[in-house]
Amino acid sequence: EQEVAEYRKTLAIRVSGFDVPRPVKTFEDSGFAPELMRAIAKQGYEKPTTIQCQALPIVLSGRDVIGIAKTGSGKTASFVLPMIVHIMDQPELQKEEGPIGVICAPTRELAHQIFLEAKKFAKAYGIRASAVYGGMSKLDQFKELKAGCEIVIATPGRLIDMLKMKALTMTRATYLVLDEADRMFDLGFEPQIRSIVGQIRPDRQTLLFSATMPRKVEKLAREILSDPVRVTVGEVG
Ligand code: ADP
Ligand code: MG
Repeated sequence: EQEVAEYRKTLAIRVSGFDVPRPVKTFEDSGFAPELMRAIAKQGYEKPTTIQCQALPIVLSGRDVIGIAKTGSGKTASFVLPMIVHIMDQPELQKEEGPIGVICAPTRELAHQIFLEAKKFAKAYGIRASAVYGGMSKLDQFKELKAGCEIVIATPGRLIDMLKMKALTMTRATYLVLDEADRMFDLGFEPQIRSIVGQIRPDRQTLLFSATMPRKVEKLAREILSDPVRVTVGEVG
């Protein structure tokens, strides 16, 4: 415990919450299956980044997490890798329809980046990922979603459109990620985010990542996360 405390202090890591799992030092420590370990190695990831060391074991334990760290710190893998494990751990859900993992991101570029990363890890298991954002034909997107997927990565506005068109159902969604929450708020997506969250069962696991935590984001986090662990890396505003 002393060692963990010292290590966190050196790297400007702050973790708060009840019964927080210990950080990992390696991807092996996370207990990932061989297929996933191979996909991680193929990505050229040798060891977890600082935020990944802290967040991976907490997210894998099923807890809600608020992750605050600057751009480029490796936040994507800290929610994408546990999402793959989460999906594989839910065989009873495989019979139903609609995504199990739902990721919201502020822009199509970000959604696309997350999609590419998710696909690399999902492929090993035959898990299907769909990206849903503006600028693409709604009809094509509708058809793709109708064909089925386990993961959907979306900008909030287009996801609402697809939900209205009944392109997908949220009945089996149990893993929700709000990535770059501060930017989604800056872009005015708060109502859409609230609507999406309202359509996902309350016994979900919810993760919120942000570079900063303005009051409005803090308020949303308090409302939609249960007993979250907060992980902050570095000095953030
Ligand atoms: P953030 O979301 O915090 O801005 P990203 O998840 O986009 O950061 O990651 C930033 C870059 O670091 C990406 O190019 C990603 O592929 C790379 N990366 C992530 N995790 C690792 C790792 N463990 N080892 C090496 N590179 C990594
Ligand atoms: Mg990111």
